[in-house]
Amino acid sequence: MTRSVGIAGCGVAGLALATLLRAQGWRVVIFDKLEKPAPIGSGLILQPVGLHVLDALGVGDGVRALGARIERLFGLSGTRVVLDVRYDALGARAPRGFAVHRGALFEVLYDRAVAAGVEIVSRREVVAACAGRFVFADGAESARFDLIVDALGMRSPLSTQPRLNLPYGALWASLDWVSGFDPAALEQRYQAARKMAGVLPIGRLSDGGGDKAAFFWSLRHDAREAWRGASIDAWKDEARALWPATAPLLDQIASHDDLVFAAYAHRTLASPLSRDVVHVGDSWHCTSPQLGQGANMALLDAYALALSFDRQGDLTTALAEYERLRLWHIRLYQSASWLFTPAYQSDSGAIAWLRDRLAAPVSRLWPAPQTLAALVAGQWGWPLGAMGDGRAGENTADS
Ligand SMILES: Cc1cc2nc3c(=O)[nH]c(=O)nc-3n(C[C@H](O)[C@H](O)[C@H](O)COP(=O)(O)OP(=O)(O)OC[C@H]3O[C@@H](n4cnc5c(N)ncnc54)[C@H](O)[C@@H]3O)c2cc1C
Repeated sequence: MTRSVGIAGCGVAGLALATLLRAQGWRVVIFDKLEKPAPIGSGLILQPVGLHVLDALGVGDGVRALGARIERLFGLSGTRVVLDVRYDALGARAPRGFAVHRGALFEVLYDRAVAAGVEIVSRREVVAACAGRFVFADGAESARFDLIVDALGMRSPLSTQPRLNLPYGALWASLDWVSGFDPAALEQRYQAARKMAGVLPIGRLSDGGGDKAAFFWSLRHDAREAWRGASIDAWKDEARALWPATAPLLDQIASHDDLVFAAYAHRTLASPLSRDVVHVGDSWHCTSPQLGQGANMALLDAYALALSFDRQGDLTTALAEYERLRLWHIRLYQSASWLFTPAYQSDSGAIAWLRDRLAAPVSRLWPAPQTLAALVAGQWGWPLGAMGDGRAGENTADS
């Protein structure tokens, strides 16, 4: 008998899971609140573990073709190098990250899901779930499914645990790429941990346009109104003072509306299984993007859940296996993110001082370069190996 799954959320986790389950013969329906589901935000780095899942979906090469191959993460505080993580610390042929425009990633995943036969229903705001059905904002209910999944992201109304909003978020913009930056690096500049600017090459969209850069600027939630109230030129002066080379990027920003504020929050549910739904992606665990892992985690969740259904016929056993496969890796990365975030976004002068004068020099001593490269690549806790699939993405892939 054909099994059916209803997935709330047409983001990274929802689309990846839908395609994987469809390949196993499930009937799959995705619900999203947007008129036409679309990605919000600018760009992100897909780490080797996430790219491995995209390869399993058959879209890895398509994403790499649109993205920018990333060799290192590099940050300066004044003239002091305080961040320098290189993938080649794990070996010359170690897999690299690829940075992509969110729109490019979304389009590739969306087209793949539709081609696989996934049904996508838009303009459906999910507000609750009960007994295999979703309840929508207008009071209507979905059909009944054998399984319902919460892939609604950070602000999911189906995720019940309290969430901690982090004091800092960031302004983001997708701009045209300009010379003066390393096309294979995420670069950042800091003033203590109170100011941070970043430039990330994110490749291009499939519309034939040129290469893009994601520009971001760290901002406290409670400073947003003051930022909006002040002139955009005053803010540009501040950004240029921190990082003069950004001038041609800032020239592309005409008003406050050219920047989108992304709020960051930290939450980890004790289990991805609640009474009514199974959580994947940010609805289970979200955090600041300092370690660049959220989309990768979402892809790994989808992969682990589909793998568990492939291996276990019984629904309850499969869900227990899903939790076992992912829990350790998620706890590890949520803790690491919790630890590292204040070093780059906080009001603490002491933390920034320790970062610059203690952590940065130590990070250059063996085995720190390898350990940090493995952390960034998403390999701490060996997530694919735990699923019996450690070849690519963790060890020798030449991507
Ligand atoms: C600024 C920023 C930078 C980031 N950088 C990186 C990075 O470099 N690398 C990385 O791996 N990750 C990064 N992340 C994290 C990453 O974007 C997320 O972890 C990832 O998108 C989570 O995927 P998801 O599918 O769980 O949720 P989402 O991608 O948020 O998808 C949720 C979907 O649910 C829909 N939805 C929401 N509420 C409802 C509702 N009530 N009813 C119906 N539909 C609804 C939304 O429209 C959306 O389509 C970054 C995040 C931010 C904010």
